[in-house]
Amino acid sequence: MRDPNASGSTPRVGLVKEITSLSNPVIKDIRALSMKKHRDETGTFLAEGLKLVIDAIELGWNIQTLIYAKARTSTEQVERIAALTVARGGLVLEVSEKVLTAITRRDNPQAVIAVFEQKLTPLSEIAPKADETWIALDRVRDPGNLGTIIRTADAAGASGVMLIGETVDPFSTETVRATMGSIFAMPLVRTSEVEFLNWSAKDGALLVGSHLKGSVDYRSIDYKDRAVVLLMGNEQAGLPDSMASACGKLARIPQTGRADSLNLAIATGVMLFEARRHLLALGDLTP
Ligand code: SAM
Repeated sequence: MRDPNASGSTPRVGLVKEITSLSNPVIKDIRALSMKKHRDETGTFLAEGLKLVIDAIELGWNIQTLIYAKARTSTEQVERIAALTVARGGLVLEVSEKVLTAITRRDNPQAVIAVFEQKLTPLSEIAPKADETWIALDRVRDPGNLGTIIRTADAAGASGVMLIGETVDPFSTETVRATMGSIFAMPLVRTSEVEFLNWSAKDGALLVGSHLKGSVDYRSIDYKDRAVVLLMGNEQAGLPDSMASACGKLARIPQTGRADSLNLAIATGVMLFEARRHLLALGDLTP
C-alpha cells in the first residue's frame, strides 16, 4: 500500500492521515479491491464494520489499513483499533464520507472499514478429528450462497469450509458481507477435485454427498463420534458422478411441493445442523 501523502517513495507506517480526495493513490488502491484481479495481486481484501474489524484483529488477522469517518465513530474504540493497527505495522486513514461511499460503493457505508491480508489453509494440514464437521463445496458460484454457508458453518460449530475447483472468490466484498464476520472465524481451504478426492480417500473421514438422487435419508446417517465431510454440489449442475461415486453415503433431504431442489445454502444448513445435532444444545440464558 502506498504512502497516503504520496510524496515520498517509502511508506510511513502507522501514519494517521486525513484524506478527502478520491484521486489520492492510496484510495485508488483500496477502491481497486472491488476487483478480483487486484485482490489476487495484493493478497488482500476489504472488510466493513467496527465490530467485525475488532473481531478480526483479535482473531489474529493481519490488518494492513484502517479507514474511518471521524464524524461517525466513537473515539475510544477507534483509537484502540488504530493503536493496534499501528502496532502491527498498518496505516490509519481518516477519510470523508464521500471517500467511504466511493470505497464501499454504498450510500450508507459503515463508519469503519479495513484492508486485511487474505488467509487460506492448505488441504494437507487438514486432518479432521472425531466430532469435527467440514463442508466441501463443489464449484460454488454465488457469492451470497458462499457467504451464507460460511456464516452457517460458523454457527453450527463446523471446523471449516473447503472450496473445490473454480469457485467464486471467498474474499469478494459481497461474500465477506454475507458472512457477517464469520469469514474471520472459519478456516478456508482451496483445492482441486483431484486433490480433494485423493485427500478424502486417505483421510478416513466419512464423506457424505448431498445429492438429489441420494439413496439415504440425511437423517438416517450415524454422524456420532466420527469426522464428517459434507460435500455439496454446484448450484446448477449438482455433484458430478466423479465426486458422487467417491462418497461413503449419498444423502437426500426429502422434499414435497413443486420445487426441484433446495437452494445450496439452505441445503447446506439443513445437512449441517442434522450432522451436528447431537453436539448442539441451547446455552443457559440465566444471568
Ligand atoms: N440441478 C441441480 C442438481 O441436479 O443437483 C440442483 C443443485 S442444488 C440447487 C445445489 C446443491 O444443493 C445440490 O447439488 C445438493 O448438494 C444440495 N441439495 C439441494 N436440494 C437437495 C435435496 N433435496 N437433497 C440433497 N441435497 C440437496
